[in-house]
Amino acid sequence: MKTRVLPVSRESIKEACEILRRGDVVAFPTETVYGLGGLGLETAAIQKIFEAKGRPTTDPLILHLPSPDLQEAISAGWVTEPVPTFAFALTKHFWPGPLTLVLKRGRLVPYPLTAGLETVAVRCPAHPAARQLLSSLGAPLAAPSANRFGHISPTDAPAVLQELNGKIPLILDGGPCPAGIESTVVSLIDDPPVILRPGVISAESISESLGIKCEISTSLSQKNTPSTSPGMLASHYAPQSPLYLCREPIRHFDPKYQFILFGPREGSSASNVHSLSPDHRPETVARNLYRTLRKVDSLRPTSILMDPVPDSHLAHALRDRLFRASSGNATWDGTRWILTPRSQN
Ligand code: AMP
Ligand code: MG
Repeated sequence: MKTRVLPVSRESIKEACEILRRGDVVAFPTETVYGLGGLGLETAAIQKIFEAKGRPTTDPLILHLPSPDLQEAISAGWVTEPVPTFAFALTKHFWPGPLTLVLKRGRLVPYPLTAGLETVAVRCPAHPAARQLLSSLGAPLAAPSANRFGHISPTDAPAVLQELNGKIPLILDGGPCPAGIESTVVSLIDDPPVILRPGVISAESISESLGIKCEISTSLSQKNTPSTSPGMLASHYAPQSPLYLCREPIRHFDPKYQFILFGPREGSSASNVHSLSPDHRPETVARNLYRTLRKVDSLRPTSILMDPVPDSHLAHALRDRLFRASSGNATWDGTRWILTPRSQN
């Protein structure tokens, strides 16, 4: 199959809708990462998504809604009542946007989307191209990240092409994703709500908008088995070369490795040193993280060494992604880097 890449326009959105209506899949930009969309209420389209990604069918998909009005999703049969008032408070505050809510599955949502669960994860994305696509379609889209399972999520159209060339008919190119990491997933099945996956919207802003403290799930995990949040495997978002997380900010640059710094390169002009944020802003780090990992990984280094994540409102989300992407820790012993695989920690 030939994969076409078309810039987002009225014509390309119309074409994407035609492809989706006949049950096929299309990659499109969202504010977080690129999604691989298929009709969310059609089992055959959902199966196509799992196949194209090589994703295990035990890993549920997020249903992307055409409207930020949660009541519409309830009336349409995508979500079942009772829906806690917390859910309405969160959607009023954060939708459209990078927040996913886990609620009771509506009767029209097929089990393959939820991996057999009686719950469904829903979100209304804010990216103008995603909104245009969803409103032209007038139906919800199942849309996981547009990468092969376990790989780094794509944050621009060339990255989607690198991942899924020949497996999907169309990629809508809307430029780089503004946020660069995945949505925050909050379960409203639990009372009080629990954050299953830290993301672009911090635990602090969620707690503040609800007026109660929201915890990040403790099962987020250090093990490689699916737990209360299916799909949250300890190994994910991974580059091909092993990635080691440094315990202290990197000051020593060995030509054997590639180094990724959080702040500016500060004088180090070596080609094996890369910066995530010349401006030190956590938002810049998030926006550049996957693109930089992908670029550095394409050099096929023996190992990639990464600076520790400084504290900020995005620290939880960044640490979560980097932990899953990493193979272990690195320490400088005064003369050389010691790389310790995770299994030996
Ligand atoms: P992504 O591949 O980034 O779209 O991630 C989707 C993630 O959302 C899954 O891997 C789960 O961790 C989470 N998720 C989706 N549906 C549910 C659900 N019904 N219950 C709990 N977590 C869910
Ligand atoms: Mg993903």
